[in-house]
Amino acid sequence: MGPIEELSAQLGPGAVLRAGDGLTAGYATPARGAPGPDVDVIRPRDTEEVCFVVRWACEHGVRLLPQGANSGLVGASTPPPDATGLVVLSTERLRHGLQIDQTDRTAIVPAGLRLGELNDAAGEFGLTFPIDLGADPSIGGMVATNTGGARMLRHGDVRRRTLGVEAVLADGAVSVLDTLRTHRKDNHGLDLTGLVVGSSGALGIVTRAALDLAVRPADTACAWIPIRRASDAIVLLEYLERRLDPLISAYEVVSAAALGAAAVAGQRLPLPPAPWAALVEVSGPRGCGELLVDAAETAPVDTGDAVVLPTEQAWAPRHAVSEGLARLGAVIGHDVAVPRAELPALVDEVGAAVTSRWPDLLVADFGHWGDGGVHLNVVVPGTRGVDEHLEADVHDVVFAIAVEQHGGTFSAEHGVGPSNASWWHRTVDPVEVKLTAALRASCDPLGILGHPGLPYPRDEQGAGQVSE
Ligand SMILES: Cc1cc2nc3c(=O)[nH]c(=O)nc-3n(C[C@H](O)[C@H](O)[C@H](O)COP(=O)(O)OP(=O)(O)OC[C@H]3O[C@@H](n4cnc5c(N)ncnc54)[C@H](O)[C@@H]3O)c2cc1C
Repeated sequence: MGPIEELSAQLGPGAVLRAGDGLTAGYATPARGAPGPDVDVIRPRDTEEVCFVVRWACEHGVRLLPQGANSGLVGASTPPPDATGLVVLSTERLRHGLQIDQTDRTAIVPAGLRLGELNDAAGEFGLTFPIDLGADPSIGGMVATNTGGARMLRHGDVRRRTLGVEAVLADGAVSVLDTLRTHRKDNHGLDLTGLVVGSSGALGIVTRAALDLAVRPADTACAWIPIRRASDAIVLLEYLERRLDPLISAYEVVSAAALGAAAVAGQRLPLPPAPWAALVEVSGPRGCGELLVDAAETAPVDTGDAVVLPTEQAWAPRHAVSEGLARLGAVIGHDVAVPRAELPALVDEVGAAVTSRWPDLLVADFGHWGDGGVHLNVVVPGTRGVDEHLEADVHDVVFAIAVEQHGGTFSAEHGVGPSNASWWHRTVDPVEVKLTAALRASCDPLGILGHPGLPYPRDEQGAGQVSE
C-alpha cells in the first residue's frame, strides 16, 4: 500500500478522491484560465483530520494545495502544469460546528462553509456577513485571500471583519494556531490573526474563523447613473459621500464594454448609452432610498437619466459582467487599486495603451471605484485562447501603469497567485521580503503548504521562491 492508500484507509470512505477516478476534474478547473492536471484530492472533516493530513504530508514530502470553493482569480487554487508530488486539500467537508451569537453579533464558522450558507443561517438572527461578491466562496478561502467585494466601502474587507482564526501549521510539531476569540477589542499582543488573513494558504490551513457580523439593513436602494466623463464619477462619489454618509454601501463604476458583456450574459441595463455607468447603493433605516433619489437630483454632474431599481435587479447586470466577458473570449484579468482621484486617468491610459498595441483586444473596466479598485479586464475575443507570452505582456503594460504611474497596487482584493506573482517580486520592499521569509520558515519550514507559484520565499536568499 502506498502513502496515499494508507491515508485513505486511515481517514475512511470519501476522504480521498484519486486522480483519474472521474471525480476530480472540478478541483483542477479554475474559475478563470486553463485547467490544471488531475491530482489526488484529500477531504478532511475536522481540524484533527487536517492535522493528520499535514503530518502525513510532512512525513512523505507531499505538497498540500488548500482549496475552498475554487473561485479564486489568480490561479492559486488549482494545480500547476507540473503537479508532481502535489495533492489538493479540499476544505469542502469542514462544515460542522457553526456557532452564531446574536447578542455579540459574531460567528465561529468552519472553513468549508460557503458565504451563502453562512448568510442563510445568520439571516435567521437578522444578521449578515456583509462581504458581497458575484461568487459563493468558502469562508476559509475568503480568509486566505482577504476578499474585498462590492460593499467594502461600508463594511470593510475580510481582514477587518475577522476577529480570530484557527489554522493548522506545517511547523515541526504541526501546531494549531488558535486565536479563535470573538472580542472586537483585543489589544493583548501582535495581530497573528491579521497575518493569516490574506496569506493564500502559505502560513497554514485555515480550519475555522471568528467573524464580525453586521445587522441586516432595514432598507436598501440602488440607482444606476450614466457617466459621460470618467472624472464625473469621482465628482459624483465625493458629493454623494458628503450628502449621504454613512448610508452608501457600494459605489461601482462599469464601462460600456463591461455592460455590453453583461448584456451578452442576458442582463441588459435600462439606461441610455454612456461610456460608463455608476451603480450606487445605500442601505440603512427605512426611507434611506428617498435620500438617494434626492441626492442624485441635486448632484453637480448631470444625472438626468438615472434609474432606481430594486436591489436584486440593480445588481444583476453588475454580477453578470464576469460571465459575459468569459463568453466573449479568454479573459486576462487585472485587479488593481489606486488613490481614487487617479482612477479616471488610469482607465483612459490603460485603454489607450492596450488597444494601440493590440487593436484586436477589448478592454472592459469595471469595479469598486468607491475603494479605489478597478478590474481592468482584457478580452482576447473568440476561441483562440491566450498565449502565455501575450498574457505576460498585457499584465506588464497594465500593472506598470497602475503601480508605477499611479501609485497603485497590482492586487487590490484577489490576493496573490501565479498570475500576478512576478509583480510581488518587482514591487515588494526588501524588509517585507525578509519578514515574509521569516514567517514562512517558522510556519512551513519544509515548504509543503500552498500553491508552488506563490512568490513567498522561505529565506532571504529566496529559497522556496518560485522561478519566474
Ligand atoms: C464571478 C466572481 C466574482 C468575484 N468577485 C470578487 C470580488 O468582488 N472581490 C473579491 O475579493 N474576490 C472576488 N472573486 C474572487 C474569489 O471569489 C475570492 O478570492 C474568494 O475569496 C476565494 O474563495 P474560495 O473559497 O473560492 O477560495 P479558493 O479559490 O479555493 O482558494 C483561493 C486561495 O486561498 C487558499 N485557500 C483556500 N481555502 C483555504 C484554507 N481553508 N486555508 C488556507 N488557504 C486556503 C487557496 O490555496 C488559494 O490560494 C470573484 C470570483 C468570481 C469567480
